[in-house]
Amino acid sequence: MTNNVNEFDSIDVVNSDRNHVWHHLTQHKAFEKSDPMVIVNGKGLRVWDAKGNEYLDAVSGAVWTVNVGYGRTEIADAVRDQLVKMNYFAQTAGNVPAAQFAQKLIEKMPGMSRVYYSNSGSEANEKAFKIVRQIAHKKYGGKKTKILYRDRDYHGTTIGTLSATGQFERKNQYGPFVPDFVEVPHCCEYRAQDEADKENYGIWAADQIEKVILAEGPETVGAICLEPITAGGGVIEAPAGYWPRVQEICKKYDVLIHIDEVVCGLGRTGQWFGYQHYNIQPDIVTMAKGVASGYAAISCTVTTEAVFDAFKEDEDPRMGYFRDISTFGGCTAGPAAALVNMQIIEDENLLDNVNTQGAYLISQLNRLKEKHDIIGDVRGKGLFAGFEMVKDRTTKEPVDESVVMAVAGHCMANGVIIGRTNRSFKEFNNTICLAPALIITKEEIDIVVNAIDEALLAVTSSL
Ligand code: PMP
Repeated sequence: MTNNVNEFDSIDVVNSDRNHVWHHLTQHKAFEKSDPMVIVNGKGLRVWDAKGNEYLDAVSGAVWTVNVGYGRTEIADAVRDQLVKMNYFAQTAGNVPAAQFAQKLIEKMPGMSRVYYSNSGSEANEKAFKIVRQIAHKKYGGKKTKILYRDRDYHGTTIGTLSATGQFERKNQYGPFVPDFVEVPHCCEYRAQDEADKENYGIWAADQIEKVILAEGPETVGAICLEPITAGGGVIEAPAGYWPRVQEICKKYDVLIHIDEVVCGLGRTGQWFGYQHYNIQPDIVTMAKGVASGYAAISCTVTTEAVFDAFKEDEDPRMGYFRDISTFGGCTAGPAAALVNMQIIEDENLLDNVNTQGAYLISQLNRLKEKHDIIGDVRGKGLFAGFEMVKDRTTKEPVDESVVMAVAGHCMANGVIIGRTNRSFKEFNNTICLAPALIITKEEIDIVVNAIDEALLAVTSSL
């Protein structure tokens, strides 16, 4: 693919963007001194900006989305064909790609049964919360309305999902929040608190959830929402023993398990879904980003048949069903893209590639850790990896945010886009994060790791 910027005047586009587009998660003051980046083309893992600069994108569209890579004409063709035939009808009726994708998805999710379509990760999580709340009213006399979430986890940008989020950067200045969302501690072994049982940390961390359930009253707690591997909160995989214990606790107190697979879903960690590494059976699973790799907006709230059944059993039929709609959940472009996206993951054996290249990526980051004292901890699973940067390995004091930004900026200047995670309320958790497309090659990993190596050398020598 060539970088064809001839169809428009790139200076005009950059100026229009600077003058009229409000970028996400962006302090626009920066554009008083430098131009905003406008992305023009993409192919594989590479993107080109309006000025013709080429980048290797190691975070799949900045936010871990483009799982099958850029420039997939087969997805674009399927979406075009579908749109010409039938673009939209509300999900009060079915449509062909929605039915076909639901069938294909459920085949990969033993124990799960029903797919509810909407447009974004936040929306999928809102649907899950509404399902939990309605079950509380239908089955438990309006009592089991509380939803637990973990410190450091992120579940979305709406006020409801932010209420279920444990990240300072996301929540600060947006309160007050929705009642009955209750925070529980996280399970980051590297940052285990002094009072923690370090020998059995996984079980100890899960037991902290039980303490909160007991303090709140088990009769008030309807569900817990968890990322299988915490993404924006610092790329955190729970230690051994954690998940079976969480499942046991939830069973004991009749608490539904809602797994947020918005980042980990569709192959990112080497299984179709992150939770499938840990042998847990969720009641609700939400997913978005990788479902159609950003070729169309689509998200899914997937439930067990038991959860679905609760909406059929009601004496008053008008109260019984799930009284929710998402207008654009009826867009056919989403499931049409998702079907081909999933087929690509299968046909190209991308789960195998994630496992092979993911192991290589983590080994290379560990190699960097041996070389650079600033790396305190390397974490990750599959093609989802991160490393935490510290001033001192013994005290684990995190580096200043400016250091993290400098490392990311250095990589960007050298044509490699990497990501960073967010600060939680309790800890200044600054982790560089990598989540490249699932098609990445060993050679491309080497380019990314070399760029990080050089950035760390440059940044640490200037400290
Ligand atoms: N859950 C998780 C784990 C996420 O990382 C995100 C987005 N980063 C969301 C939910 C929200 O998704 P969206 O931005 O599509 O609303």
